[in-house]
Amino acid sequence: MIGLENPFFRVHERRAGAETLIGNRVLSNFSSYDYLGLNGHLEVQDAAKAAIERYGTSASASRLVAGERPIHRELERALAEVYRAEDCVVLVSGHATNVGVIGQLVGPKDLIVHDELIHNSIVVGAQLSGAQRRSFPHNDLDALEKLLIAQRRQYHRVLIVAEGLYSMDGDWPDLARLVDLKKRFGAWLMMDEAHSLGVLGKRGLGIWEETGIDPNEVDIWMGTLSKTLSGAGGYIAGSAALVEYIKTSVGAFVFSVGLSPPVAAASRKALEIMLREPERVERLHRNGRLFVETAKRHGLDTGTAAGTAIAPVILGESLKAAMLSNRLSERGFNVMPILHPAVPERLARLRFFITSEHTPEQIEEAARVTAEEIAGLAGTTEVLQNLAK
Ligand code: PMP
Repeated sequence: MIGLENPFFRVHERRAGAETLIGNRVLSNFSSYDYLGLNGHLEVQDAAKAAIERYGTSASASRLVAGERPIHRELERALAEVYRAEDCVVLVSGHATNVGVIGQLVGPKDLIVHDELIHNSIVVGAQLSGAQRRSFPHNDLDALEKLLIAQRRQYHRVLIVAEGLYSMDGDWPDLARLVDLKKRFGAWLMMDEAHSLGVLGKRGLGIWEETGIDPNEVDIWMGTLSKTLSGAGGYIAGSAALVEYIKTSVGAFVFSVGLSPPVAAASRKALEIMLREPERVERLHRNGRLFVETAKRHGLDTGTAAGTAIAPVILGESLKAAMLSNRLSERGFNVMPILHPAVPERLARLRFFITSEHTPEQIEEAARVTAEEIAGLAGTTEVLQNLAK
């Protein structure tokens, strides 16, 4: 009604890295999770091609029956090592991993407590499980403690779920405190590392490396192949018993096809490069800090972003966020808006994904042009809102 172009489902005509081709225009891209620039890396491509030549494009069956390929275990062993864990299992989707595993691991006599900003897949998994579900305010571990004091005794098991790096705000929880709480209350702790692998810690090993906590203190490590690891799929790392349980009882593994071999090979290679080239992680850290510092210097509200790979620019109005995304697209920057109800209206925002491959100039320009366009928009949204009534 107000003539605003839909910012969603923009079609990218080729690999979306630090730059992307939309229509016939090349834009600076701040909307992809390719944190270390490994999607399309030549070695990653070669690994995928070799896997296609050997195995074809599909596992063609569940791994239990005829879908097991050597590359599955190779990838799982490498991922288990990241968490110093006994074992690991990969599934075909990150979302389905959370839904399937949480849905199966706890039941109606149990309690799931999670950060209010937790990913949808964890909420859906909790719903499937039939467990009671309570959330605590974002990163407020005092509130979590109070909740555990009040509720712990009523339940058989308690599962605490948090993310290693929150994908809306670019901040992370106090892992030492989470470990302390889970021990004191006899709970299980599950960490979703979707956005922290490749991003947190000197070598990109995630929140445990960043915080110096022994990874064995966490019961369930979950992550995805779709971000730093240039693939698609989810994984769980932990004890051999946990992995065995998943491999024999979680429907999303047992009754679903094995991970596509070229995807497994691509992610295996991406992980190898991540570990071999920590300078990528260092560059990402520098870029993340540069974005937040520059944005703040221009008076932008980046909320609690710590300066890693994810930074919001909070605008407080969905309409403004959508308009700004369109204006930025016209100025050569692809940045997605996050609108109500994905976040409360007062927290509507643009979300910037920073990668190791952005140049400092791209980052500084993006922050500067965003500030300029916000100033240009002042007052416009009120007029449009009145027109739309
Ligand atoms: N967990 C978190 C925290 C996520 O952000 C996402 C997706 N962005 C997922 C799980 C699901 O992963 P995938 O997209 O690889 O299915």
